[in-house]
Amino acid sequence: MGVARLDADDAYRDGGFGAVPATSEAIAGLREARLDDEAMIREEECAVCMEDFEAGDKLRAMPCSHCFHERCIFDWLRVSGICPLCRHRLPTEQS
Ligand SMILES: [Zn+2]
Ligand SMILES: [Zn+2]
Repeated sequence: MGVARLDADDAYRDGGFGAVPATSEAIAGLREARLDDEAMIREEECAVCMEDFEAGDKLRAMPCSHCFHERCIFDWLRVSGICPLCRHRLPTEQS
């Protein structure tokens, strides 16, 4: 029970009940990034799953230029349209 409560708090910490998914257009429009594109990738690991980026991983860059695994950030943005690192907000269904 304690764990479930913590997860809910975590998901909704940005403004009470305000976890709003990003629009599918905003998600699909994220730039693809490549690990060898050092000008683009400042992080060494994905802040969603906390695993290091590895050659061949599909990555996507947010407008704030934070990068994540494509599958991780897509899953994240379908729950909450904010960057996990800096809270940059993507267009959401309710905005
Ligand atoms: Zn990841
Ligand atoms: Zn960010």
